[in-house]
Amino acid sequence: MTELLTPALDHLNAAILVYDADDRLIAFNQKAIEFYPEVKDVLKVGITLHDLVASFISAGYISDDTENRQSLIDAMAKRSRLDSHYEVRQLPDRKLFIQISHTPDGGRVSLHTDITRYSEVLNSRKQLHEDFLLIAESTHIGIWDWNAREDILQVSDIFLALLGYPRIAWNYSSNLLAALTHPDDRETVTNLLHAASNQRLPIFDCEIRILHFDGHYRWMLLSGQISSLTIEGKIERVIGTMQDITNRKEAEAFSRQSAAAAQAANEAKSLFLANMSHEIRTPMNGILGMAQLCLDTKLTHEQHDYITMVYNSARSLLHIIDDILDFSKVEAGKIVLNEEDFELRPFIQEIIRPFMPGATEKNIELLVDISQDVPQMLRGDNLRLRQVLNNLVSNALKFTHHGEILLKISLVPHNDRLLFLVHDTGIGIPDEKQKLIFESFSQVDASTTRKYGGTGLGLTISARLVEMMEGKLVVESVPGEGSTFSFTLPFPFSCHTDVRSLVLPAELLGTQVLVVDDNATNLRLMKDMLRNMGLRPITVSSGALALSLVESNSDFPLIMLDVQMPDMDGVSLATTLSAMPAFHNSTFIMLSSMGRAMDSTALTALGVSYVLSKPIAQSELFNIIVKSFTGKHCPALPEELATPQPDSLDAYRILLAEDNLVNQKLAVNFLNKLGHQCDVANNGMEVLEKLDETDYDLIFMDLQMPEMDGGKATQIIRDMESHQPALQHHIIIALTAHAMQGDREYCLQHGFDGYLAKPITMKALQQEIHRVMTQEQKLTPLPDPTRETMDEQTLLQRFYGDTALMKELSGIFIQRFPDSIATLHTAINERELQTVQQEAHKLRGESSNFGCDKLVALLQQIEHAARQHDLTQLDELAIELKPLSFRLLKSLQTIVDNGYTG
Ligand code: ADP
Repeated sequence: MTELLTPALDHLNAAILVYDADDRLIAFNQKAIEFYPEVKDVLKVGITLHDLVASFISAGYISDDTENRQSLIDAMAKRSRLDSHYEVRQLPDRKLFIQISHTPDGGRVSLHTDITRYSEVLNSRKQLHEDFLLIAESTHIGIWDWNAREDILQVSDIFLALLGYPRIAWNYSSNLLAALTHPDDRETVTNLLHAASNQRLPIFDCEIRILHFDGHYRWMLLSGQISSLTIEGKIERVIGTMQDITNRKEAEAFSRQSAAAAQAANEAKSLFLANMSHEIRTPMNGILGMAQLCLDTKLTHEQHDYITMVYNSARSLLHIIDDILDFSKVEAGKIVLNEEDFELRPFIQEIIRPFMPGATEKNIELLVDISQDVPQMLRGDNLRLRQVLNNLVSNALKFTHHGEILLKISLVPHNDRLLFLVHDTGIGIPDEKQKLIFESFSQVDASTTRKYGGTGLGLTISARLVEMMEGKLVVESVPGEGSTFSFTLPFPFSCHTDVRSLVLPAELLGTQVLVVDDNATNLRLMKDMLRNMGLRPITVSSGALALSLVESNSDFPLIMLDVQMPDMDGVSLATTLSAMPAFHNSTFIMLSSMGRAMDSTALTALGVSYVLSKPIAQSELFNIIVKSFTGKHCPALPEELATPQPDSLDAYRILLAEDNLVNQKLAVNFLNKLGHQCDVANNGMEVLEKLDETDYDLIFMDLQMPEMDGGKATQIIRDMESHQPALQHHIIIALTAHAMQGDREYCLQHGFDGYLAKPITMKALQQEIHRVMTQEQKLTPLPDPTRETMDEQTLLQRFYGDTALMKELSGIFIQRFPDSIATLHTAINERELQTVQQEAHKLRGESSNFGCDKLVALLQQIEHAARQHDLTQLDELAIELKPLSFRLLKSLQTIVDNGYTG
């Protein structure tokens, strides 16, 4: 221990000198020589204390006054012999703190500690302390120091000034604060001090009210720190500060009130908007319904035009109101997301297809690119996702005049999120407006003479919906070049991992496919899709390039051509290629945009086997390729892919003669969705005019139309055909809204080739078109979807003659029926589409038992419209709901009341 200690002592910043009982130096460390270099020569073991002191004093003493020198030596030697003595000694280069103690053997040990640095610290602290006091005064921070043991509270002048009191004493007691603290806050202070004394929280602060001299309470921030505790752990001393925070507290209270008021105002606004939308919608339904009824009556041309305008205006107004209602719901946080499994690719096709005719009309390519690794089944709120994508694609279409629109979906690497991106080559959005467009009611062009319609709410709603789905909608845009809206969503992939592998049978792998399309993006997409299937696509961007290519490479069992290309279109190219012997056995597939007429006979003659509608779904393409090579469906493919998509060459040019706007729109929409092109005639006269100009594959003829009804027009067409044998037989399908018993037979006897009763459904349309065009099926009486009610006798048959059962069930049904109809109406008005679907479905099942086929058909359409988020159609269908349900109710009531006995 001593061996370790002795050298260590030399490094201590202190000199140690040890004397024995005879005052002789017996030990010292190296620091003694360093601190006292003037006595270095005499500083040796054995020297007496007195001699050492004398030598030290003499070295520094420059006077000749020997007497004085001796007395200095004596005084120092005497002090150095004292027990427990201490003093501070200032040497030229350092300051020493000297402590002297007696040892048990009668000797002494003196310790000379260098405190030069310590003095610096002390000075600095002192300086800081003074500065702090100054700053505290000027920044109105009161300082306090409480000696708890003696209960003495010292406070700075500013402390008293903060409370408005003059100084009447130097020392106060804790009573000063205790008496002035607000009664409700006293406990806070006591608790804090208690916690602090338990060392749990030695530093504390609290906001308390203290009574000012002026009689008002002021808010103070009291901060403190326990600076010492007694041995028993009691508080000995607490120091701290006090600041007046009344202004801050008042501002906080004010901003809290303002925030609450703003929130209340916002909620009131949203509620008002919701109520207003609801209130406006009700009379608007009246306007729409009445306008529709009016259009069904006999009108002059002029009147018809006027009412049509009323109808169209009402519809766009309804659309705006829908936006507002949706927006207010988002604002009020009333939208709840619904999770369900859905299949992504058909879902995207459903969204895109209705935009195709519009895109074709504007000569814009509308493309879909879903990466191969994006799963087939997803789980999420597809209704809301549809709403967002619809908005983005419809904006892209609205603001693009040439070029292309691309909807791209891909997996974000390592991240389990899906990226949705809608890119267009449209007018773009200036930098400074890009943030603005996500705000409500804002549009880039806010002038009153705007070129593009809209509410400026679509993007706001979309952005909020994306946010609710845990994403962020962002835009990148260059004016004049285009815009890209994108967002990523954390889509949990459904546990129904129904991913079908789209790889062709081994013998087809590596087959060369020629793809010709002028659009580079579409070429890339086709290339990716074909490659993913294991084929070898070769892509060129024009007919001319294709022709020069086949001079050197003509091994193309499959050739895919875009119908619309500049210079040489797909049909001309197909004509040229199909004439070459090398391609006699090749399969030609045309890629067409919806709505474009395809002359099927001519195409067949060219050897074109299939027409695929853009955007092309990979699974559809796969199906067609398998079919074209093997002549059969690939078993791995889902059945529904075959319908309602045209899977072979059956795109017809159709003339629809129909005077009712809603029915017109519906039928055109359905026919377009089925891949046909459709022109519209408003009456029989127009049918005859149009037939003069164009050859139609098929005519749908409404029986009741103004000016010239369908029966008359058909009769004239048949007369012409019989007088001019060169004329082809026009295929005409009758449409009737008032299907009475025997209507069907009437139609078939009066020159119609087919018959369809309204309301028409897509499936019925497709079946009837297929039937008349192929003439494969014989006409059989169909269930009558126009039947509103059943007579008792027929109804009774449904219950196998059990009158009691019929009456009982009818009774139960009509008891609940009005409520269910009311619920459905409310859900339609409130846009609760999930409830609409459920309620319509439930009601449909119940109603079908009572023979009200028309109502069943209506409910089915309502359910479908709700699923498609087609609000306009929903409103149109809802108009029919009331009269129909009323009539059914009345007829069933009669059955129940009459006590029908069979
Ligand atoms: P609106 O109903 O007016 O279209 P939105 O909220 O959907 O409302 O869009 C707001 C505005 O943002 C539009 O009026 C338009 O000025 C601009 N905008 C949106 N999408 C595009 C786009 N793809 N290209 C150019 N401008 C766009």
